[in-house]
Amino acid sequence: MKNVQDRFLEYIQYDTQSIPDCECIPSTEKQKLLGARLVNEMLSMGMENAHMDGKGYVYGYLSATPGYEQAPVLGLIAHMDTSPDLSGKNVKARVVTNYHGEDITLNREQDIVLKVSDFPQITKYEGEDLIVTDGTTLLGADDKAGIAEIMTAMEQLLKSGRPHGKICVGFTPDEEIGRGADFFDIKNFGADFAYTVDGGEAGEIEFENFNAASAKITIRGVNIHPGMAKDKMINSLLIAMEVQSLLPEMETPAHTEGYEGFCHLNKMEGTVERTHMHYILRDHNMDKLEQKKERMLQIASKLNEKYGRGTVTLELQDSYYNMKEKILPHYHLVENACTAIQSVGLKPKVIPIRGGTDGARLSFMGLPCPNLGTGGHNAHGKFEYISVNSMEKTVSILLKILDLYSKIDLKKIK
Ligand SMILES: [Zn+2]
Repeated sequence: MKNVQDRFLEYIQYDTQSIPDCECIPSTEKQKLLGARLVNEMLSMGMENAHMDGKGYVYGYLSATPGYEQAPVLGLIAHMDTSPDLSGKNVKARVVTNYHGEDITLNREQDIVLKVSDFPQITKYEGEDLIVTDGTTLLGADDKAGIAEIMTAMEQLLKSGRPHGKICVGFTPDEEIGRGADFFDIKNFGADFAYTVDGGEAGEIEFENFNAASAKITIRGVNIHPGMAKDKMINSLLIAMEVQSLLPEMETPAHTEGYEGFCHLNKMEGTVERTHMHYILRDHNMDKLEQKKERMLQIASKLNEKYGRGTVTLELQDSYYNMKEKILPHYHLVENACTAIQSVGLKPKVIPIRGGTDGARLSFMGLPCPNLGTGGHNAHGKFEYISVNSMEKTVSILLKILDLYSKIDLKKIK
């Protein structure tokens, strides 16, 4: 039987970086190499119908043990790709055994140091084994830790002979570019409920995320030689600055936390003649998100009154929604996860996500799906690290959740 650490170290050898703005599905062919390997591994450990579809999604399941067919079918989901932000090729991971709470030199030549002063959380892992990078790539714990934990839990469950309901496992490509849920085949997956196992400390459970929209603003100006521009020039760049000045100064990502929403200008380019601005709007509360959209509309109409019709055009589009409303009717998902987390000696941490998850999308597609932490920290960068102990605990949490659900009659909770 393979332990979770060895499995993880093998998976991160696969470069599975996804890339945005690509028509291909999955966005990079190399993700399928890990997919194929996972299929083989699932088959050899005795999982049924393990396969990868043409879009690079990997599925497989374990039938319920006899007498446990009444239990809800539970899904476990993780993503195979790594972030486009930093290379995941030639990851040279290192295990720091029995960590003592000191700074960790990742790369002596390039003087790259994982400093306690920058990441004080790391001292929580004193006495544990940490896996770190050599400072030149990301680690890929996001989300190969999730995959390694699910696979290890499946193998341990099979070897233990413990009874269980039907369990479905799914690994998706392209989560990091926001497309992980796009082609997820919920119907064939066949789960009643699922958990994504993706990022965050072990013991975290997340079932609230942002409601999200985007605002695309185009400003048309009138250009003319500056020497003869009096009463004629309309400078679209200056109007763009006016747009921003009409938004609340403190409602930006840099000034908000917890449940506070924001309007974030993440792209702006232009000339006197024409300027494009792109905002993302976020709020856990749907009414408040609607207010943010409404304010954008008012700003556009106010500026059109001032500069003439058609000067400012605004396109608002919803991106994703807070899964809370889809999870609350199935709150046992949160309660059972908390029970499982406590059973391994951790304190459950329920945290509102300041972003979206594939699980949020899946929840709105009909599969209620909160998220569980994997133990990973500092995702998407060279300082990414994970504690082996956290991975082991997460495996135990998953097994405990499966055990709890095996004793539940689906008819009584649906
Ligand atoms: Zn992730």
